Amino acid sequence: MEKEKLEMYRGMLLEYRKRLTGDFEKALDSANEEFGMEVPDMNDEATRTMSRRLLMSIGDKSLDTLRQIEEALERIDDGEYGVCAECEALIPEGRLELVPFAIFCVRCQEQLEKE
Ligand SMILES: [Zn+2]
Repeated sequence: MEKEKLEMYRGMLLEYRKRLTGDFEKALDSANEEFGMEVPDMNDEATRTMSRRLLMSIGDKSLDTLRQIEEALERIDDGEYGVCAECEALIPEGRLELVPFAIFCVRCQEQLEKE
């Protein structure tokens, strides 16, 4: 894939990531405000548990997306972006424009979702 296109996708991925992590931080902030006074002796373990619960409430789907974004960014660095991580078929650019963090072709993605 051409370098300019790769950079364009990288930009889109970074934008997605910023939006997702921003959501997490906002949720953490409001949780601190909400629970901060009620749980004054919260030790690290409790904080971790709460963060985990919070992240789960934001949704496994967002976390999955975040992981996929990281992986897609790595694939750009490795020069493997746009190639299916499963069967090595080229991922159509129309798909990448809609889902820039797609690392599988449609067929493999459907297969994975079935499992
Ligand atoms: Zn594939």
